[in-house]
Amino acid sequence: MAIERTLSIIKPDAVGKNVIGDIIRRFEENGLSVIGTRMTHLSAAEAGRFYAVHEGRPFYNDLCAFMSSGPILAMVLEGKNAVKLNRQLMGATNPKEAEAGSIRADHADSIEANAVHGSDSLDNAAIEIAFFFADLDLHSRR
Ligand code: ADP
Ligand code: MG
Repeated sequence: MAIERTLSIIKPDAVGKNVIGDIIRRFEENGLSVIGTRMTHLSAAEAGRFYAVHEGRPFYNDLCAFMSSGPILAMVLEGKNAVKLNRQLMGATNPKEAEAGSIRADHADSIEANAVHGSDSLDNAAIEIAFFFADLDLHSRR
């Protein structure tokens, strides 16, 4: 299995609940290393640029408002199969469908306020990592 990098975001709802540590613990206990972190508070326009792929969807404006409602923690995770492994640890988008024990099953309130973001492919991971981080901000553990 290839060593990959993926982007994770702890969303405003989960930052507000003070569960940053619990979420990062799950990544580390499952073999992922945090190689860069950035806490920031996006404007609605910046959230819109990050989620541009969803522009035109009925939930897009609400999603931009939610993602700019408070601080987020963006981080880069590195490890074997990182993209898929992170998605497994996150659980399904809708917490009602999220696997027991997943981050969203334990911390998400709704299909919108669902605690975490994770890149859905290696190509999108590279684009999303570059949105938040410069190469010099990342510190590989390989
Ligand atoms: P994921 O975050 O699991 O990759 P998507 O990429 O489909 O899910 O959607 C991006 C984000 O948009 C979701 O995490 C969620 O916050 C929000 N979202 C998705 N679908 C809906 C919906 N039907 N209603 C409200 N918000 C949604
Ligand atoms: Mg997605």
